[in-house]
Amino acid sequence: MGSIVSGSTFQIPDLIKERIHLSFERRKNILGTSTAARMIFSESDLLPGLIVDNYSGHFVVQFLSAGIERFRDHILGILCRKQECLSVYERSDSSSRAKEGLPKISGQIYGTTPALVEFSENGIYFLADVRKGHKTGFYLDQKISRGSVASLSDNKIVMNCFSYTGGFGVAMQNRPRKIFQMDASKDALELARENEKLNKIKPGIMEYIEADIFEFLRSNEARQIHPDLVILDPPKFAENAAQVPGAARGYKDINRLALGLLKRDGLLASFSCSGHMERSLFQKIIADAALDANHDIQYIQNFSQSPDHPVLASFPESEYLRGFLSKVI
Ligand code: SAH
Repeated sequence: MGSIVSGSTFQIPDLIKERIHLSFERRKNILGTSTAARMIFSESDLLPGLIVDNYSGHFVVQFLSAGIERFRDHILGILCRKQECLSVYERSDSSSRAKEGLPKISGQIYGTTPALVEFSENGIYFLADVRKGHKTGFYLDQKISRGSVASLSDNKIVMNCFSYTGGFGVAMQNRPRKIFQMDASKDALELARENEKLNKIKPGIMEYIEADIFEFLRSNEARQIHPDLVILDPPKFAENAAQVPGAARGYKDINRLALGLLKRDGLLASFSCSGHMERSLFQKIIADAALDANHDIQYIQNFSQSPDHPVLASFPESEYLRGFLSKVI
């Protein structure tokens, strides 16, 4: 391997090793009372194309670009030797690899990763299916928002739309009167039930609705729930800039329907993980949705991705998750 700068003896593998080390050091302050975090977030940690998530010492790694793929063995060697590393599982199965001419690869690299990995997030226990789950198994990027929204849930009737494995609802523990975990995926809801059991949530608080949210929010069944707090955390609606107008219609639709179910003092925590959807546009969409729902709303809190998914100043595209907490007045 040649030197980066002519005459320099510095080698790219050394640079990568140093950047991995520094990235792990930066996460030490972030982990806090959690045992899971994104240890390496691609460009934001100056390692483009590399994702490493840590679930209680079980690492899940993704190589997403041809550049980083060249150093695969070197990087895996460094990760396996980390003191806290119990196992390494590869999830290089993102469709973005096709654009780089790379096949999808997944499998055990080192140690034995349990079928479901247990970890804690601020004292709440979760299971992640790192083999088949979304992303690397869990939406670690919503950690701070889950805590913030949970703190607002006392005695409330909560609709957790696009719940996946229950994240926002499970974080609320026994605080709400009722939590409706709602998702189109049967598998995700099954794991949500496991997460409910793991946290010994009182029977009768959590209910599960397997449905298409767009349809459900329009139904009579939804109108009978009378929620005080609705969470909308849908999947990415826009994969690229060209899809933003269509995505905007989708966001407006669900936000209008959710706001229509809320009464005065009702809360809506609404998110977009479409990187191409600018915060200002997302804010306007919620404002339009409120107008159509015949409500005045206040924005009382902004949400963003958790600090283990940092935004690199020179790469603003690394900010992709936006959210608003709105209150009906
Ligand atoms: N809030 C979750 C993450 C949500 S990910 C957390 O904190 O972990 C988005 C979820 O939306 C996925 O679980 C996916 O199954 C679900 N989903 C996608 N389209 C849907 C639809 N039309 N109706 C209901 N759920 C949908």
